[in-house]
Amino acid sequence: LLGIENLRKSYGRSVVLRDFSLDVDEHDVVVLIGASGSGKSTLLRCIDLLETVDDGVIELQGRDITDPRVNADEVRSRIGIVFQSFNLFPHLTVLDNITLAPRKVHGVPAELARERALVTLERVGLKDRADAYPDHLSGGQQQRVAIARSLVNDPVLMLFDEVTSALDPELVGEVLAMLRDLKSEGMTMLVATHEMGFARQVADHVCFLDGGRVLERGAPEQVLGEPTQDRTRQFLRRII
Ligand code: ATP
Ligand code: MG
Repeated sequence: LLGIENLRKSYGRSVVLRDFSLDVDEHDVVVLIGASGSGKSTLLRCIDLLETVDDGVIELQGRDITDPRVNADEVRSRIGIVFQSFNLFPHLTVLDNITLAPRKVHGVPAELARERALVTLERVGLKDRADAYPDHLSGGQQQRVAIARSLVNDPVLMLFDEVTSALDPELVGEVLAMLRDLKSEGMTMLVATHEMGFARQVADHVCFLDGGRVLERGAPEQVLGEPTQDRTRQFLRRII
């Protein structure tokens, strides 16, 4: 579904991703781990075309999306991305937060956008909060709304960047449970996280990023349990 080949991304003179290659098959959950600054967020932002890349190929459903001729809005409608900060509009209700992009960017008629939003809210268990404002919801609920917002276009790929890092510990579980539900529905996902327990349980593959490259990749029990690289071992020792 997603094929990344020899991707290179730098900011000024600092190279953040180098010779970066990664394949993600349909229905796969790939978890990205690695120290701060290893390039996880940059990779996700490149895939969602929020950054331009210096070199390399990102193929989504067989087509190179780094080609300047591609329509970035159309590509983004096939990809959902969720960040650590929920980025909900505080002056809009939950429902309006979710229908905004479909209506304004993708030209979906208001009534249809509303119907789709309600179906999606039901999926994340928050249909009864459709008319609430974000600051009347818990952090976990706000993050679930942010996930609903990125699901509403029926993306083929979901990108999650540390989506539980800003949450109080007791709220982390409900968001991780949502990611599990998405996996059981067959969603293809690329997840940057420091939640090793989640990685162990849900990942099909774990990739350890180091200095903008995939240093080690494998089944979670292998990468987390019996890493072959010293750098991976050091990282895991520090984090667990
Ligand atoms: P973390 O675990 O802290 O989220 P990360 O793996 O997501 O880290 P990135 O955010 O991708 O790491 O950053 C990789 C490198 O790129 C870092 O050295 C960072 O300073 C640099 N970087 C990221 N964004 C920019 C930017 N807009 N301009 C300049 N440098 C940047
Ligand atoms: Mg990051």
